Amino acid sequence: MTIAEKMRQRLRLNRPSLRARARPPKQRTPLGQNFSAANLPVALSMPVCDTCGHVQYPPTELCGECLADTLVFRETDTQGTLLAKTELHHSVWEFFKRRMSKAPWPMGSVKLDAGPVVLAHLADNTLAPGQSVQVFSHTDASRSSVLIACDVSQPVGRREVRRALTEATGLTQIAVREKGI
Ligand SMILES: [Zn+2]
Repeated sequence: MTIAEKMRQRLRLNRPSLRARARPPKQRTPLGQNFSAANLPVALSMPVCDTCGHVQYPPTELCGECLADTLVFRETDTQGTLLAKTELHHSVWEFFKRRMSKAPWPMGSVKLDAGPVVLAHLADNTLAPGQSVQVFSHTDASRSSVLIACDVSQPVGRREVRRALTEATGLTQIAVREKGI
């Protein structure tokens, strides 16, 4: 490797803003990796306690209700209610910096009918607190599952609908910088 190549490599590692291709965060705990895997084939899958029926989110090793270690991923109802929403204008992560340079990033908290409150990207910025929504999971450009909330009328049981909604958020595309390294 030449000095010039070494310098480029070092710059790429130290200065994410110079990278040609920026991706969403891919770091996940082992429990988070399980969550991604369990959500690949279905609209939404959550850890459910086999002992007491509690739906656990975020994923943990023990049930938050009865402390049993009998959590198993099960397909979960996508229906919920939007509690609150916000628009992010700044991120320390290069992928989201590039996304937010075009428009603020909408996110919301959703109380699922199944029990837990989740934070989700909003597929539709017109969603208002108090409104009925659905939450589904989809892989992002780093191949990790993320949660996305959309209008209750969307047929999220269909894979192609989930993919189209996720693509519209920009989460599935790498954020490219022209002439990056
Ligand atoms: Zn339990």
